[in-house]
Parts: sequence; structure tokens; C-alpha cells
Amino acid sequence: MNTSTDQGLLVVRTVADLRRAVADFRRAGRTIGLVPTMGALHEGHVSLVKGALDRGDVPVTSIFVNPTQFGPKEDFSAYPRDEEGDFAKLREAGCRIAYAPTKDEMYPGEQLTTVTVAGITDGLCGPLRPGHFQGVATVVSKLLLMAMPDRAFFGEKDYQQLQVIKRMVRDLSMPFEIVGMPTVREKDGLAMSSRNRYMSADERTQALGMYRQLVKVADTVRDGKKSCAEATAAASQALRDGGFDIVEYFTVVDAESLKPLERVAGPARVIAAARLGRTRLIDNLAV
Ligand code: AMP
Repeated sequence: MNTSTDQGLLVVRTVADLRRAVADFRRAGRTIGLVPTMGALHEGHVSLVKGALDRGDVPVTSIFVNPTQFGPKEDFSAYPRDEEGDFAKLREAGCRIAYAPTKDEMYPGEQLTTVTVAGITDGLCGPLRPGHFQGVATVVSKLLLMAMPDRAFFGEKDYQQLQVIKRMVRDLSMPFEIVGMPTVREKDGLAMSSRNRYMSADERTQALGMYRQLVKVADTVRDGKKSCAEATAAASQALRDGGFDIVEYFTVVDAESLKPLERVAGPARVIAAARLGRTRLIDNLAV
């Protein structure tokens, strides 16, 4: 294995090799920034690597399509995979370690231990994707313990996930800083997502409705004078009229507890999930 800390991207596939590579950088006095991903990388992922570089960390990106966070009817087998393309993007971005373990390396033998974060998983995607956040919290715990970074970077694009991870790290006294990074969007406003490649050209045009409605609701409820329920009901209807098949939720929540709000009085987030053909889109904005 090439253990050089001088340059380039080192690809590792085992926990032992990951720890060795991280230790080499630590011996050289460097701090470590972990970027957990499921691959099919885009500019959103790259922004997390840049976040690590901006803080002076050695970026370590994990690529693992985690089966335990997909429901039985979800897109685990269809989830886009492009390892060589991902490595090229990471190299270009200045990432130093790519950790791409096999399923057996990640879950050797029978796993009897899981991590559950209660409360903030009760709403939004929680009940719609049973077991999802437990799968996420467990795999992220494992990745953090495997890499032992100083910081880990997550996108606000998956806002509930970010809050779950922040809460998990706080509640379990894990010695890692969790950094939330702004959502990277296409020029027209659509949030970048690995799942966007499922969409047809027509769906891609319709998908923009979600961002437009999020902006509209955020503007409407910002000063606390208008009811959140009224604004989000109108937005849901607009999405259905605009071609979305199912609006799973469109709501305004407290930015930390994720509890639904009737009026905005402090930090809040407008957040939505909806289905367009076979694609499930999620997005959110600060109010
Ligand atoms: P994923 O590969 O979809 O599991 O995402 C890996 C990480 O990238 C998560 O922390 C996501 O929130 C983040 N991410 C995904 N899309 C974006 C985006 N458009 N902007 C910023 N971060 C993103």
C-alpha cells in the first residue's frame, strides 16, 4: 500500500488500512475531516471536501451505499454507483483518502448493536422511512469510530439527518465536531442529489417547483404574521398541480427540535419531501 502523505488520493478498502493512513497523517501533525457519502458524487459532496480543506483538515471521504438505511421497497439496488468517476472527482477536489469498504468490512458477521436517536426522528422522514435513521446513525457511528476524525462534514440538504447526527454525537459524548454545510444547487435552484439522475427531462423541469415553493413559503412565514399551515397547504397543492405525484410532507419546523410550527418566532426551517415519478425529492431552506 502507498502510505505517502505527500500527495494524491489513497484508496483504502479495510478499516486497518484506513487507520494506518489516518495515523500517517496524524504523525505528520495533521487534523482529519471525514466526509461520509454513498458515492455517485456531485458538487454537493465536493463542497464538503472543500469544507474540510478550508479548515486545514486532511479530507477523508467514505463511499458506502449502506443497505441498512434503505427500506425493502426503496432503491438500494438501483442506487447509482460510479466508483472510478467518484475517485476522479475526489482526486480533483484535493481529497487525500477514499475509504470504500465492502459490505463485509462494514458489517463483519452478525451485528447486534444499533444506534437509535429518538424524538427528532418522530416526524418528517422518520415515520415514512422506518429504520432509516437507525441505519444512518449506526453506520455514521461506525465510520466515525473507524476514521476517528477531528470533524465530520454533512450537508444541510439532508437536514433531518444532520440534526440526528448532531444529537447523536452530543448524547453519546462522541469526541467529533459535526459541521453542517450549505446545500449546493443547480443554477436554477434545484438541490443537487445523486438521485436527480433518475429524472426524465420533463421531471427535471417539474422538480424545480419544490425549490420555488420552499422559497415562497419561507418568504410568506418569515415575519411570523402568516400561518405556516396555510402557506404549506398552498405549496403542497401547487406541487401536485405542477406534476408531483405525492407530497409526503411540506412543513415549517423549529430548526433544532424539528417540531412543526404554527408561527415562526425563532430559527426555523421549511422542509419538504415529494415524489415525482420514481424519484423521491427532499429539500429545505432556512426561514
Ligand atoms: P449522500 O451521498 O446522498 O448520502 O450524501 C452524502 C453527504 O453529502 C450528506 O452529508 C449529504 O447531506 C451531502 N449532500 C448531498 N447533496 C448535497 C448538496 N446538494 N449540497 C450539500 N451537501 C449535499
